[in-house]
Amino acid sequence: MSHEFDIVVVGAGPAGLAAATAAAGMGRKVAVLDDNPHVGGQIWRAGAGKSAADRAREQAVAGLESSSAELFAGRQVVDASPGSLQAWVGAEQRLESFQFESLILATGARERFLPFPGWTLPGVFGAGGLQALVRGGYDVRGKRVVVSGTGPLLLAVAAHLKQDGAEIVAIAEQAPVSQLAGFGVTLLSRPGKILQGIRLRAELSGVPYRTGCWVVAAEGSGAVTGVRLTDGTQTWAERCDLLACGFHLVPNTELASLLGCRITETGVEVNAEQRTSVAGVYCAGEPTGVAGVDAATVQGRIAGLAAAGQSAAAASLYGKRDAEVKFGRAMSRAFALRAEVLKLAEPDTIVCRCEDVRFGDLEGNCVPRTGWTDAKLQTRCGMGPCQGRICGPALDALFGWRNASVRPPVFPIPIAALCSAPLYDSEVSIHEPQEISQ
Ligand SMILES: Cc1cc2nc3c(=O)[nH]c(=O)nc-3n(C[C@H](O)[C@H](O)[C@H](O)COP(=O)(O)OP(=O)(O)OC[C@H]3O[C@@H](n4cnc5c(N)ncnc54)[C@H](O)[C@@H]3O)c2cc1C
Repeated sequence: MSHEFDIVVVGAGPAGLAAATAAAGMGRKVAVLDDNPHVGGQIWRAGAGKSAADRAREQAVAGLESSSAELFAGRQVVDASPGSLQAWVGAEQRLESFQFESLILATGARERFLPFPGWTLPGVFGAGGLQALVRGGYDVRGKRVVVSGTGPLLLAVAAHLKQDGAEIVAIAEQAPVSQLAGFGVTLLSRPGKILQGIRLRAELSGVPYRTGCWVVAAEGSGAVTGVRLTDGTQTWAERCDLLACGFHLVPNTELASLLGCRITETGVEVNAEQRTSVAGVYCAGEPTGVAGVDAATVQGRIAGLAAAGQSAAAASLYGKRDAEVKFGRAMSRAFALRAEVLKLAEPDTIVCRCEDVRFGDLEGNCVPRTGWTDAKLQTRCGMGPCQGRICGPALDALFGWRNASVRPPVFPIPIAALCSAPLYDSEVSIHEPQEISQ
């Protein structure tokens, strides 16, 4: 099955919704695809409620619904080239093809995980992952939960879990208070964020929030029953039923890489109009750098307007976007990883969970590994179903190894689907990075 649109948006989170609504509002024929059954992305997936986030979601969804943009939910984009992409429709076990003039990538971010002894025990979750499970009905009532790692998500997750009946034993934020204080100064010009922080702290009253504190090990035989925490001087044990642990976020850049877009340390490189280095391909939201929901929304709007040829309207939003991006950079500095959390893995600690590759295998006891490709060839690290989405960012943080080659399909699909897809042509997917015009 093949569809033709002027503009296709991949991702229906805040950035994708804003992009699709803006482009459709300019009379362009727009499709928005997301691999989830519901729109909203990571932050708004929960659905209707009464918080400020729920109202923002309602507004964004109403905007999309009242526009002419067409939503294709349950579509996982597995391959893309300028002009066309392939989406896997899991519910129907088939590939679907989309042709377009312009593509807007709004694929969001995911949590970063770092290996430490016990991190693969049942009961150890990503912080955002546990939040998503609870939103989906997982019962945490009466469970003792330690929330640890780094980033503003820890507070949001802890508040959410507490609201759902969990007992939050402690929040362990690895960033030192001196690093966070600088970020606090950045917040002074953003009363909305300060209010949000105050509200979260109030919801978490009585819960210890320890800065400069991190988990050194999760313990238990069949499942986690406790963790060891340290502040660098003292180490102590806390009993818990669940550990929610994530080390801030990393941008989802796989599709952009596949298209040949230039990627920097912080994410997909874009110009003022959110155009990437590949003609006709725009990028908005977290793949361009982790900066939060307000940045994602305004970037999406700019990308949608620019792709629809409305450069002047897009330019009127640059000031707001630039301020949000600056805020995101300050946030990344505040929650930068300390050296100690990169040294927690022991030789037998699993790093690649899909292929059971241990830290010792990666260090290469006799012959040191020279990089990502070498590690992959020698150990199968990153070659499992997640295709390096979990271990890749960890290897980057631990060893400075980057995955330089992304190949289609970017998510696993049945081989039969690949063989029977007449439109599937991976040859056209590899493009040389092009110069970006400012
Ligand atoms: C696990 C997690 C939990 C979070 N929870 C909170 C929170 O509670 N509060 C908060 O303020 N911020 C939270 N954030 C941060 C928040 O998600 C961002 O600030 C903001 O939502 C980014 O918007 P976005 O549109 O760029 O990306 P997202 O909201 O992530 O949207 C991207 C969408 O694209 C889809 N997608 C990606 N790749 C493909 C593909 N190949 N094919 C089809 N669809 C694809 C994704 O499934 C997703 O729906 C969370 C982030 C994560 C990763």
